[in-house]
Amino acid sequence: MNSVKPMKPGKKKASKNEAAKGGANTPMMRHYLQLKEENPDAILLYRCGDFYELFFQDAVTASRELDITLTSRDRTSEEPVPMAGVPYHAVNQYISRLIDKGYKVAICEQMEDPKLAKGMVKRDIAQVITPGIVMDPENLDATSNNYLLSIAPAKDGKGFGLGVVDVSTGEFRCAHLPDEASLRIECAKLAPREVLVPESLRASEAWKAWFPFDALPLANFRLDQSFDEHRSLTRLKEHFQTETLAGFGVDGIPTALAASGALLEYIQETQRQEARNLLSLRPYRLDEFMVLDETAKRNLELERTLIDGRRKGSLLGLMDQSVTALGSRTLRSWINYPLCSVEPILDRQEVVSYLVRHPVSLEHLRDILRGVADLQRLGSRVALLRASPRDMVSLRDSLDHLAMLVEQLDELGDTPLKRFVDGIDPMSDVFLDLDVALMDEPPQIITDGGMFKLGFNAELDELIDLATHGKDQILRLEAKEREKTGIPTLKVRYNRVFGYYLEVSKANADKVPSDWMRKQTLTNAERFINEELKDFEEKVLGATEKRNDLERKLFEELRARVALQIPRLFATADVVGNLDALQALAMLAVKNSYVCPEVNEGTLLSIEAGRHPVVEQTLTDDRFVPNDLYLDCENQQVMVITGPNMAGKSTVMRQAALIVLMAQMGSFVPARACTVGVVDRIFTRVGASDSLHRGLSTFMVEMTETANILHNATGRSLIVLDEIGRGTSTFDGLSIAWAVAEHLHDVIGAKTLFATHYHELTTLAERKARVQNFNIAVKEWMDHIVFLRKLVEGATNKSYGVKVGELAGLPKTVIDRAGMVLKRLERGEFFEPEAKPSAPATKQAASGQLSLFGPTIIEKERESRIDEALRNVDIDTLTPLEALNLVHHWKRTLNKH
Ligand code: ATP
Repeated sequence: MNSVKPMKPGKKKASKNEAAKGGANTPMMRHYLQLKEENPDAILLYRCGDFYELFFQDAVTASRELDITLTSRDRTSEEPVPMAGVPYHAVNQYISRLIDKGYKVAICEQMEDPKLAKGMVKRDIAQVITPGIVMDPENLDATSNNYLLSIAPAKDGKGFGLGVVDVSTGEFRCAHLPDEASLRIECAKLAPREVLVPESLRASEAWKAWFPFDALPLANFRLDQSFDEHRSLTRLKEHFQTETLAGFGVDGIPTALAASGALLEYIQETQRQEARNLLSLRPYRLDEFMVLDETAKRNLELERTLIDGRRKGSLLGLMDQSVTALGSRTLRSWINYPLCSVEPILDRQEVVSYLVRHPVSLEHLRDILRGVADLQRLGSRVALLRASPRDMVSLRDSLDHLAMLVEQLDELGDTPLKRFVDGIDPMSDVFLDLDVALMDEPPQIITDGGMFKLGFNAELDELIDLATHGKDQILRLEAKEREKTGIPTLKVRYNRVFGYYLEVSKANADKVPSDWMRKQTLTNAERFINEELKDFEEKVLGATEKRNDLERKLFEELRARVALQIPRLFATADVVGNLDALQALAMLAVKNSYVCPEVNEGTLLSIEAGRHPVVEQTLTDDRFVPNDLYLDCENQQVMVITGPNMAGKSTVMRQAALIVLMAQMGSFVPARACTVGVVDRIFTRVGASDSLHRGLSTFMVEMTETANILHNATGRSLIVLDEIGRGTSTFDGLSIAWAVAEHLHDVIGAKTLFATHYHELTTLAERKARVQNFNIAVKEWMDHIVFLRKLVEGATNKSYGVKVGELAGLPKTVIDRAGMVLKRLERGEFFEPEAKPSAPATKQAASGQLSLFGPTIIEKERESRIDEALRNVDIDTLTPLEALNLVHHWKRTLNKH
């Protein structure tokens, strides 16, 4: 997300001063400045004819950000006003670029036809577009929601209210979040582009910690009273036109109401109209879903890859086999909110299974769904009376496809797809209304005319005939009058001053009927008009204009009629989104040979021949090696996984987590067979990353993540630990890893996969009943290692780090040297005899950094030599000075390294 560019404080004042000095003291500029004062934090686009103009600092900013020419108004003045402009027909692309860069844009439109205006054209702000309130499809990503959040801290300090809205789709929901951790989780999942925060929190900047550092939304600080619970309640009731909100199930969650009311107020304020596409407010509870925090989302690469942040290569990138925008967004929400109860998971599985077994129906279904447009965004534009003629045609075509869909689902008979038949309303009445009215390829803009079919409206048909066939009619009238008068040279002509007239030569003037009215006399000709020509003129002149006006009126009536039916469309859109997401899961399963997992309330996780869904797709040379994995809470609760670098430890652990997540989405999974007892949360602790922006070092991040796991995991959680304690000294790290593993085993009881290069941890299996050792097998062959990628029982004590360094292309001299040092270290020799220990190395050894795997041998050797010397001492003959010297010598020996 782009960083937010706050407008410079004091800019408003500066503009006024500039205005006073410069050539800005005209009625229009005074009006401009008044609007600017009302919208100080937005870039104001001021409509003047065919352009939107920008002035003062806005012009400077826009010229920089949009790369448009900066000119000035009233150049002759001493201090001309900076000015820039964008053409009205291309304004959307400029708005989109400003929004992308984190600006708000206020659009001032002409509120009357300039031709009819008396004095200055009436103008006003039509809407304010902000990153969180975008309606234009060109400025939106069809595959994801565009959320605007509102966060209301509870008055008693116990948690937060969260309001969530996607103005482009009409989604409006809310929740109470018990603490800051759950707020952070929601913020990471929803990835809003904009957030409303009470003004009183501005100074502390604490709100920034609620969002992932790389996705900080635009913050709007709203007066604290906007978040007042009672004020919010009244606003919401007014909006939904209900006496109470009990019907929505939001009574009793005051924080959520407070946040939602603030949202609604902001939307009404910026949109300058009722938010007619927000039809209901849906509360949701976090415990309905598996908890996935930001760390888990990132480490499991659910939506974006770790390496380049792209969708391609993520789980979502792989799983999104949907064919509609509705399905794509539904799937994204399913990945973020996997289910925790078995029943709805089985419901989804039932449909997926059916489609997997009936590939022809699956293909047919996909074909029909492809013709269904984004009903939520389309419906929202209709509800807000912003839909274009093409939108309406797209709606008509979608409804046609929905009718086909219902027919196909019905034809399938008594199948799990039957349930969708009742849920999908093809709105045949609306379809007919649109179908009889609209042309197949109408213009995009409603003032251009050419939207309606012939026969839809008699008055319009006549106007169209006049506008398009006026010339023929003139020719017909001319021929008729020639015949009537017997003047073969009579002509019907037109000029701007007289309009249409009949022209006859002077010689024929006496043949003109008496009811014609003389208009003008020329040297050789006379000009007349008669009643019929006058009527004709009235109709023809301005026929195009009248036609366009009538078409616009008819279109607005049609759109308003359809807008009344939007609740039906939204309900259908939900069902279609689900159906498309389910067919996407089926398609995924068919394409990649997945199986249906058994999902139950138990605690078992059993994966037979499991694969990593994404890695298996990316291997080009090698075949992916499937692995079995078994975890339960009775015998095998903690798997300590050792093995060489690059062996596949991370892969096998992540694949287990992804398989569980996919299973709880209702998806099939990449395995031969699989049983999943639902988990309440997946935790991950993987690798090292700094969080310097939050003042946390690599090790601190590691420890914070570990603390989070230990505080929040339950016996129903799944924990993936890919190394713990690597960011500190060996002893500290090993001790922490050891204690964490014990705690998970003894206290929490969560199913845990723990990969480590601390081979000492494998001894835990001897002491703890439910800890088992596994390793990823490799084969040593000649001087090489061959990765077998097989997870096998038992521990290993080799990491082959130097070998992997060689594979990675470390210089040969470094590899050779590392090999020698390794051998010496393995023998317990830390320093080569001839080498003088350098200061840092001495310090390191003294701190115990290196002495973990071998020093005991050396120390033992040294101690045994002292033992032996002590035993051989003859105390009777030893003088005090000799004794002192001996003690001094032994002490030196012990302290030698
Ligand atoms: P390290 O200890 O260095 O972190 P690791 O043991 O965690 O290494 P992974 O990162 O899991 O190793 O795997 C390294 C690479 O091996 C993967 O990127 C993938 O290309 C390949 N790989 C892993 N598992 C398999 C498998 N089962 N079949 C085929 N290739 C695999």
